[in-house]
Amino acid sequence: MGDFTLELNDDQKGVRDWIHGFAADVMRPAAAEWDEREETPWPVIQEAAKIGLYSMDFYAQAFFDPTGLGIPVAMEELFWGDAGIGLSIVGTTLAAVGVLANGTEEQIGTWVPQMFGTPDDVKVAAFCSSEPDAGSDVSAMRTRAVYDEAKDEWVINGTKTWATNGGIANVHIVVAVVDPELGARGQASFIVPPGTPGLSQGQKFKKHGIRASHTAEVVLEDVRVPGSCLLGGKERLDERLARAREKQRNGGERIKNAAMATFEASRPAVGAQAVGIARAAYEVALDYAKTRVQFGRPIIDNQGIAFTLADMRTRIDAARLLVWRASWMATAGKPFTAAEGSMSKLYAGETAKWVTANAMQILGGNGFTREYPVERMHRDAAIYTIFEGTSEIQRLVIARTISGLPIR
Ligand SMILES: Cc1cc2nc3c(=O)[nH]c(=O)nc-3n(C[C@H](O)[C@H](O)[C@H](O)COP(=O)(O)OP(=O)(O)OC[C@H]3O[C@@H](n4cnc5c(N)ncnc54)[C@H](O)[C@@H]3O)c2cc1C
Repeated sequence: MGDFTLELNDDQKGVRDWIHGFAADVMRPAAAEWDEREETPWPVIQEAAKIGLYSMDFYAQAFFDPTGLGIPVAMEELFWGDAGIGLSIVGTTLAAVGVLANGTEEQIGTWVPQMFGTPDDVKVAAFCSSEPDAGSDVSAMRTRAVYDEAKDEWVINGTKTWATNGGIANVHIVVAVVDPELGARGQASFIVPPGTPGLSQGQKFKKHGIRASHTAEVVLEDVRVPGSCLLGGKERLDERLARAREKQRNGGERIKNAAMATFEASRPAVGAQAVGIARAAYEVALDYAKTRVQFGRPIIDNQGIAFTLADMRTRIDAARLLVWRASWMATAGKPFTAAEGSMSKLYAGETAKWVTANAMQILGGNGFTREYPVERMHRDAAIYTIFEGTSEIQRLVIARTISGLPIR
């Protein structure tokens, strides 16, 4: 027999169980309160920091797990605990992964620790790509970064929206247009250091779900950042832009832009979050169905309920397998020839919405109240078919990739 296995190794099991303990003991009891408050759960983030679960070291270790499963295993357990609190924690990770994946060693060493702060003074970070007129259509981005060669500084102007941790972050990663002629290929990511003048928070959104996670506009007015804050450095950007211009002249193949590169790498991780929410709701529904008695027998005795639970579990396991495959592929450097990253996010997001809706149904009237957690889980799950690329956009990416055609 070969080496193939889907079993987690002992280290991964240890990390999974450790996060599960935190999720069960700290996140779950706090979930309803922070959902009602609609505020960033700073004390919970601090607890996570104290045990090392909210730290650069932990996420770097998970990110560089050679099997690719470090991040998805961590995400599933955190979001099993609570999605709103989980997203407050993970908003930082998305920004950090952008730097870990595309930044120079110096940028990683300087900025990623500042994204997390210290256990006594915790901080969060934000990744700002979306704009009012550039959601699914990233190429419509208007935020502009202009290089001031004399001062070796970039000057950024524009308005970002929907930024998780936007405006309250210590470090913001901002995607901006550096060469408008190149459309989506003429974009780059910038680190905006703490306290940089000109960056401010706009509207904070009141949301349907993941209400413990802060989502806001970020306004950038003549924001000046040093040349060293261009993610990956100027040399790499100039090379990339030169290649893009060359390809544009030759009408050649498309080149991925900076924001898309971050999204592509993070999609399986987002899928894993959705798996965590779905698993949480399924477990509540399974327990409830075994104990709730109607017509003189537990409701699970009816195939109508039992089969729904069977489908829930099957879809959750299928979603997890898609997530694990895509995460393994990304880490092993296998190209996503059938948009496997998008597949994993699409299926896991749709699964979370479907499973949580059915969990509510199985709990009957109780499922509809805030006395039970499934209505919150259902509200939280709804974002998973919208952010990090809507389900329609994932289908578009998959369809284009498998057909080789510019499907619209
Ligand atoms: C809570 C929350 C947190 C977020 N966090 C972040 C963050 O941290 N950083 C960040 O940069 N962004 C973030 N986002 C933004 C998110 O990624 C966008 O909302 C998402 O990409 C969709 O963009 P949009 O809202 O402008 O919708 P639109 O692009 O306007 O889409 C509207 C509808 O049209 C459909 N549609 C659009 N184009 C097509 C097409 N070609 N074919 C078929 N259907 C299409 C969409 O699928 C959708 O159903 C967040 C959003 C939310 C709500």
